[in-house]
Amino acid sequence: MIPPIANRFVAGESPAEALDHVRSLNERDVEAIVNLLGEHYDDREPASQDAAAYRSLVDDIADADLGGCLSVKPSQLGLDLGEEVFREELDPIVEAAQDRDVFVWIDMEDHTTTDVTLDAYEELAREYGGGVGVCVQANLKRTRDDVERIADVPGKVRFVKGAYDEPADVAYTDRERVDRELEELLEYAFEHFEGGIGVGSHDPEIVEHSIDLHEEYGTDFEIQMLMGVRTDTQYELAEEYDVYQYVPYGDRWLSYFYRRMMERKQNVRFALRAILGR
Ligand code: FAD
Repeated sequence: MIPPIANRFVAGESPAEALDHVRSLNERDVEAIVNLLGEHYDDREPASQDAAAYRSLVDDIADADLGGCLSVKPSQLGLDLGEEVFREELDPIVEAAQDRDVFVWIDMEDHTTTDVTLDAYEELAREYGGGVGVCVQANLKRTRDDVERIADVPGKVRFVKGAYDEPADVAYTDRERVDRELEELLEYAFEHFEGGIGVGSHDPEIVEHSIDLHEEYGTDFEIQMLMGVRTDTQYELAEEYDVYQYVPYGDRWLSYFYRRMMERKQNVRFALRAILGR
């Protein structure tokens, strides 16, 4: 069972708990991006197990008619074992999701995986005419070129600042520079993209900027935030815009919870208060 200090950020260990959370979000007009926690498997077995869990989640979401989609991590689906393994696990998930009209996002991991991940996205989105999305990271210097390359792919693209510590030869390490890159990437996307745009950020300035661009260009977009972060803002924004909450679940929750804690002092204070019962 997930202890109370972690259940602000993680929906539970079982799919049933995750789906209950999705249902409660839907009641507040927020949709969910469900992620089974797991990454960097060096064995095929857990990768295949997670892939099977995602295929069954597709049915659960569709059967219950929930407002939800999936987000998968390449290294969770065996990318560390090779591109072939990754595609053997990813493609059937996307196929199953297409059959049930459930959208599949592909998270972006560190820069060594960018090419394989974008290739998989482009191929699958073109094959199915949409239904698939990928994340791109503003901290990577290559992203402007990547975004131009995938501008006409019929899927969705989630724009984020980038969560991985990357070397300075491939990435901007200055936070302000990354913020500016994200703003400019969004400007390009709102002006040129035909597919959908996801804005994965809790930063009020980035969210405001996206709303301004939406008003200027009329392009569809969705605001995406993590479970447990700025939840009230998510509900408020959902009164006017499409809002998705990224909902992690599963028994590998400890490292994810630790990352959320390390990200922000306030989160650590929140955890300490929970531990101390204050
Ligand atoms: P930050 O730069 O962390 O913060 C900027 C400002 O936002 C802060 O000053 C504050 O005003 C506000 N803020 C931030 N956190 C809080 C908080 N807890 N409470 C109140 N205000 C806050 N990264 C990847 O590399 N690959 C992915 O596939 C990926 N997918 C993501 C999917 C989603 C839905 C989201 C939300 C993020 C994803 N990320 C991904 C992570 C992303 O790259 C950033 O590391 C992360 O979102 C932190 O950047 P930020 O834009 O939210 O704002």
